[in-house]
Amino acid sequence: MTERRIGIVGAGFSGAVIARELAEAGFSVLVVDERSHIAGNCHTERDAESGVMVHKYGPHIFHTGDKRVWDYINRFGEMLPYVNRVKATVQGQVYSLPINLHTINQFFGKTMSPSEAKAFIQEQARTDIEDPQSFEEQGMKFVGERLYKAFFDGYTRKQWGVEPNTLPASILKRLPLRFNYDDNYFNHPFQGMPKDGYSKIVENILDHEKIELRLDCRFEDLDEEFAHLFYSGPLDRYFNYDMGRLSYRTLDFEPIRAEGDFQGTAVMNYPDPDVPFTRISEHKHFAPWEAEGFEKTIAFKEYSRACEEGDIPYYPIRRLDDKELLEAYEDRASKEQNVTFVGRLGTYQYLDMDVTIGRALDVADDYIAQG
Ligand SMILES: Cc1cc2nc3c(=O)[nH]c(=O)nc-3n(C[C@H](O)[C@H](O)[C@H](O)COP(=O)(O)OP(=O)(O)OC[C@H]3O[C@@H](n4cnc5c(N)ncnc54)[C@H](O)[C@@H]3O)c2cc1C
Repeated sequence: MTERRIGIVGAGFSGAVIARELAEAGFSVLVVDERSHIAGNCHTERDAESGVMVHKYGPHIFHTGDKRVWDYINRFGEMLPYVNRVKATVQGQVYSLPINLHTINQFFGKTMSPSEAKAFIQEQARTDIEDPQSFEEQGMKFVGERLYKAFFDGYTRKQWGVEPNTLPASILKRLPLRFNYDDNYFNHPFQGMPKDGYSKIVENILDHEKIELRLDCRFEDLDEEFAHLFYSGPLDRYFNYDMGRLSYRTLDFEPIRAEGDFQGTAVMNYPDPDVPFTRISEHKHFAPWEAEGFEKTIAFKEYSRACEEGDIPYYPIRRLDDKELLEAYEDRASKEQNVTFVGRLGTYQYLDMDVTIGRALDVADDYIAQG
């Protein structure tokens, strides 16, 4: 009798990293993905018309504080220096994000020093809100009403499609506020972009003699038995949505083609409520080492809306009713013999790439340790 293989659903970072670790430990692995390409939502491909490397499912910037993950990604592809500097167009002016001393001075038409700005923002902030419960309360307490309304309120309504006073305060607690001119969006010590795109990295991860990759293949259409299954598809889909659907936001990307440089930067946010999209990303600027070499450019307006049947799920909403449904599905998932649910869809969580890779490494380590 031949030994049964390990099955992995999804060829994104979750599936690919687990596959590689298990293959190196001697297991035979089958990876399936219903898409015709690898790398899941991190997929990159060159745009035929401009030559620009496009992040097909929205811009992805690699940043981490986890040395193990940084070493891992560098083992499979060359990472080049990239610092994410985001701008925002607000009521006809361009500002720097995350909110820093430049943003504050420009917005209020002042030339304050760091300590003056700190005292000024404290005056603006709603100190009467002691224990902020909602996103809105957190914003008011954090930066005061004017900055909150200009930079967070409209953007959040568009991104999440709900009133900011119904979102948890925790979302805003993660955003930095700086009283210096540092406009690096991320605080992590390691940050970069893959020279040849994310799909090349995932291709290299999957390139092992004990891994078979099958694209355009739905898990539901497989009739093979596996020794163990690692499932990075949607948790509710595994159970045929029989208790209902977990809610997600989806994104629509409207391409803009132009000659030369369209907006002079990679990401421009549009928080104003009367602008229907949330941001425009121009992908040549994610690869500054080659950006000058392209005569043409491609950018995308990004629109957010509720995810319906047939749409690609992007951001888990995790409202109260989602949490109840999630717990019910998680309860059933924990009773599934020989199946481990992983990744952003399998655990219904927003996970950055570095967290995804770190968790995949841990999951594989645990499985290998159990022998
Ligand atoms: C708009 C956006 C921007 C982001 N930007 C960043 C960023 O800047 N930096 C960062 O670190 N992270 C970013 N992320 C997060 C990043 O996309 C995730 O960390 C990563 O995609 C998670 O990988 P995964 O393998 O878990 O899931 P996925 O990449 O979604 O892979 C899952 C795969 O499973 C396949 N699949 C699902 N169900 C089935 C089935 N039944 N049968 C066969 N195949 C199936 C899917 O086709 C998919 O390819 C962003 C996410 C979004 C939504």
